[in-house]
Amino acid sequence: MILTHMHHDHAGGLHHFPHNRILVPREGWRFADGLKGKLAACLPQRWPVWLRPELLDLNGPAVGPFPSTFSLTADKRVFLVPTPGHIAGHVSVIVRGDDLTYLVAADATYTEDNLRNELVDGITYDPELSLRTLRALKSFASEEPTIVLPSHDPDGPVRLMNRRTF
Ligand SMILES: [Zn+2]
Repeated sequence: MILTHMHHDHAGGLHHFPHNRILVPREGWRFADGLKGKLAACLPQRWPVWLRPELLDLNGPAVGPFPSTFSLTADKRVFLVPTPGHIAGHVSVIVRGDDLTYLVAADATYTEDNLRNELVDGITYDPELSLRTLRALKSFASEEPTIVLPSHDPDGPVRLMNRRTF
């Protein structure tokens, strides 16, 4: 399991998965597990006592507009990219399929429309950084046929079903 960030609506169900590998980007983990995290909608006091995630550093090669990556598979078709702003250390997941690419944006943008219009979300930790992230995501999704899948976009499943690219 990959946690793109530690906001409680993403990390709140961890107690259901005591026997799974849990991967978390180190920067996001460090930020969330402290006062700054608590002030930014993380609830470390609610994490399971057994939680010891594998911490990842995004120190792989640049891909498109992203300066670094972390490959999750040997063939490098599934990888993490840094998408900070919404919260420090936020990452998104990119899956390159045979004919389409899937961008699991998590909360880097709330909807495809927000991404298209470069609208920074209202609870972002760092609006300027969020905007830079939106521009990087937009540029990536324009360079190859990509289905954009933010966590909270109600239209995501329809786009996925209809294979509608950005
Ligand atoms: Zn979030």
